[in-house]
Amino acid sequence: MKIVMVGSGYVGLVSGACFADFGHQVTCVDKDETKIAALKDGVIPIYEPGLDKLVAAGSASGRLTFTSDMAAAVRGADAVFIAVGTPSRRGDGHADMVYVHAATREIATALTGFTVIVNKSTVPVGTGDDVERLICEVNPDADFAVVSNPEFLREGAAIDDFKRPDRVVIGGHDERAFAVMREIYRPLALGRSPLIEMSRRGAELTKYAGNAFLATKITFINEMADLCEKVGADVQEVARGIGLDNRIGSKFLHAGPGYGGSCFPKDTLALLKTAEDFASPLRIVEAVVSVNDRRKRAMGRKVIEAAGGDVRGKTVAILGLAFKPNTDDMRDAPSIAIIQALQDAGATLHVYDPKSMEQARSVLKDVVYFDSPYAAMAGADALVIATEWDEFRALDLPRVTALLRTPVLVDLRNIYPRVMVEAAGLAYTAVGR
Ligand code: NAD
Repeated sequence: MKIVMVGSGYVGLVSGACFADFGHQVTCVDKDETKIAALKDGVIPIYEPGLDKLVAAGSASGRLTFTSDMAAAVRGADAVFIAVGTPSRRGDGHADMVYVHAATREIATALTGFTVIVNKSTVPVGTGDDVERLICEVNPDADFAVVSNPEFLREGAAIDDFKRPDRVVIGGHDERAFAVMREIYRPLALGRSPLIEMSRRGAELTKYAGNAFLATKITFINEMADLCEKVGADVQEVARGIGLDNRIGSKFLHAGPGYGGSCFPKDTLALLKTAEDFASPLRIVEAVVSVNDRRKRAMGRKVIEAAGGDVRGKTVAILGLAFKPNTDDMRDAPSIAIIQALQDAGATLHVYDPKSMEQARSVLKDVVYFDSPYAAMAGADALVIATEWDEFRALDLPRVTALLRTPVLVDLRNIYPRVMVEAAGLAYTAVGR
């Protein structure tokens, strides 16, 4: 199959590289010419484990190419995937569709022969209809069908998620398009096909419903963690106790500083906007969004309390800036709100992250960046673990105690046993324990 990926970010690049690995002929398009030039030189603009090797193999095989020339790429393609960003629109939280619409117009002018237009971006219900309408306006003779194929990969485990998905959702109304999509994903099937076919609107909503449900699960255990602190229970015991129930499941039951990242915050807001537009309130999701927003700053107060109630003139060291381990993505990372709260309270921030410091520099001003966890914590009045990178899981705790001016550890990811930390001479604060 001849596939075009429009947008070569986290989703487009991973999907393109995986499709090429399956044997398809893939062209990744991006309007960012610097990104395309880097990719042509074998430089991967994002950090995603294994992606460098997969892209190198795809490029070497000749099945994966990069260009900014949309028209040349789209000509003769079997399927054109739209994988551009859909960030929150400033002001109302609706998904900003400018990139999807601009990409659609460009694609429309270049269509030749029957082409499936695949919405892989996370887009509000009805976007498939809009894309269809736009293409007809721009190129009334085009022979095409629009399907929705939302992406469920997780950054940090994106390649494995893409190659071994729990399911692949395809929404559409055109049998020719379904046939193309089945062929594209056929290499995944190996016995049991993970494809679920449904209506286009159903597929569009499935993506938002999935993310909203996961955000709810996280927020539920986070509030339970607060209650655990009040009643003297341990949220990790409670999470294990409920998670072993198959109806509940143990994933997404790790209490922490609140969800962040490139998807949950914007997708929950966009879903609420859709609910409002259709006068069908989603009160549970409304509560999740507001509880989670308040939680991130509350984590700042938690650190201040652990540091003795006042951080004015003190130094706080933060380990982990990315919204989760194994990615350099800083979009809506909880560390941003926590750092802001600590700065507002007068603290100086020393920070370290294994991969995201370059991205962080454009978001986090007035913090001091260090190139190792120990350098960041030297002389600090409190140490905060904000992201559970592997390299923070086995810190030399006696060395941590010796380096800190005040031996305080705030573990917002619950990665240490209390007895171990306290035995090393540190005052320990965790979440819900
Ligand atoms: P991204 O910002 O990393 O990448 C988007 C890319 O699209 C950028 O490189 C940008 O330059 C390019 N682009 C924008 N307009 C273009 C145009 N007209 N022509 C060519 N290129 C264009 O975004 P992302 O994280 O990959 O997310 C893409 C979509 O996938 C979003 O809707 C997101 O919600 C969804 N999604 C993301 C994830 C994730 O983990 N990041 C997971 C599932 C779904």
